[in-house]
Amino acid sequence: MSVSGHASRVIFRLYYFYRGVRDLQLLEERILRDGKVRDGGVLKVDSFLNHQMDVRLFAEMAKEFHRLFGSENVSKILTIEASGIGIACICAQVFECPVIFAKKTKTKNIAGDVYTSKVESFTHGVTYDIIVSKEFIGPGDRVLIIDDFLANGAALTGLSQIVKDSGATLVGAGVAIEKAFQPGGKLLRSSGIRVESLAKIKSMEGGSVVFCQ
Ligand code: 5GP
Repeated sequence: MSVSGHASRVIFRLYYFYRGVRDLQLLEERILRDGKVRDGGVLKVDSFLNHQMDVRLFAEMAKEFHRLFGSENVSKILTIEASGIGIACICAQVFECPVIFAKKTKTKNIAGDVYTSKVESFTHGVTYDIIVSKEFIGPGDRVLIIDDFLANGAALTGLSQIVKDSGATLVGAGVAIEKAFQPGGKLLRSSGIRVESLAKIKSMEGGSVVFCQ
């Protein structure tokens, strides 16, 4: 390889490394500024992620997910209603593929056949069925799961079960905020799923958020 070819690869990598670091910092800074720690290990991010949505921040997050998973030939992005949908849509724009959201249901009477899985909600303390129409994921697909939070891992486990049942390939999961003091991340990674989170919280004791290094 020529010296100039090597140099440009180094510059390219440094640029992407810098970009990744910057995007991580954006979200961390926003959590520190606008996040509110609630009882029971819940972080409220309603002003930019879960209720009011900062789409420009989402665009930066989507770029970072694309930096991480862009070489995986993702054909579908899968998320779960409701709070994953916003980020997943912006990601789908960057990945140039459709986005599917798993519906939470009590009835299962969606038209045609569906894949279903059970999810125990961390924030609401109830178990519900999630469904995805068989029309939208199949064996030829390469699926990236996107969600806002990773806590105990129930949502991502339910979604990955659906991908498995469909015969599609799960390329990994991209999460905006991982609460590393809860077991979900460890659980999913130890089952062989590639999980990438943009902000990883080590603790929220005393109401202050501390990030993993
Ligand atoms: P898990 O299934 O990993 O226990 O929890 C993930 C889901 O619960 C996410 O889809 C998210 O909607 C919700 N969630 C978990 N922890 C938090 C939190 O601290 N704050 C908010 N706003 N949602 C959370």
